[in-house]
Amino acid sequence: MRRASSVSQTSIRLKGEVVAGAEDRQHMIAGFSQGIYSKASVCCVGAGGIISHIAPTLCRKGIGRITLIDRDIVEPSNLNRQRFYSSDIGKNKAIALAENLVPECIAATDIYGYASRLEEAIAGGLDLTCDLAVCGVDNNPARIAASRFFRSAGIPVVFCAVSADADHGYVFVQERTGSCIACLFPDMVDDDRFPCPGTPAVADVLQAVGALAVYAVDTLLMTRRRVWNYRRICLSDGAGDGVATVLSRESCPICEPDFGE
Ligand SMILES: [Zn+2]
Repeated sequence: MRRASSVSQTSIRLKGEVVAGAEDRQHMIAGFSQGIYSKASVCCVGAGGIISHIAPTLCRKGIGRITLIDRDIVEPSNLNRQRFYSSDIGKNKAIALAENLVPECIAATDIYGYASRLEEAIAGGLDLTCDLAVCGVDNNPARIAASRFFRSAGIPVVFCAVSADADHGYVFVQERTGSCIACLFPDMVDDDRFPCPGTPAVADVLQAVGALAVYAVDTLLMTRRRVWNYRRICLSDGAGDGVATVLSRESCPICEPDFGE
């Protein structure tokens, strides 16, 4: 395992190692291009429950670069569902997850971790250039910040979230143009609440939502088929599953669609 080329309390940079032949089976997937995938850069907003079920899979598929941004600290209650170990307790999540991704790699993936909130990273001028972002945070102010920032940069965002009762979750793909997360959830724009500590959370629903998000990443980078921009999955009842194409909402303050006179 190759170790960090630079480490500090607030950031880390690591690199995966090539495992010859590890990508053999995914070569056979229609529309999947290892050449494209291993040049692609993904920025993960958050490094907790949802990203823990997305980032390792991106590394196992040989993503080119992955950036993690999170200011939270690993706590014992995270270990039932997040890619951390008891030795990570007390560490910053972005730093610890970056370290834990190294053995997940099959390619020379560049792994960057930043101990920061997205809003702070944007204000500080951190280079967040990427091919797409994945937003797996637990609060609406950060979702809106991600929506605004990446839309202004022409970068698509895969938003993912699970319900407070851990029964259902969704993935929404905010493309470079067209509808944004606030077109889907108008009330999100003015919601400055943060989740209460102690909310139920478990790995099963995170895995289900994470799988849809990983697939959506492929569709944004390559020619794998996707006819939706919103998917919802409900563990207890298939009637709660859903698929839709969310359209732009008139007067949306984030994407400001022009519906004319
Ligand atoms: Zn919008």
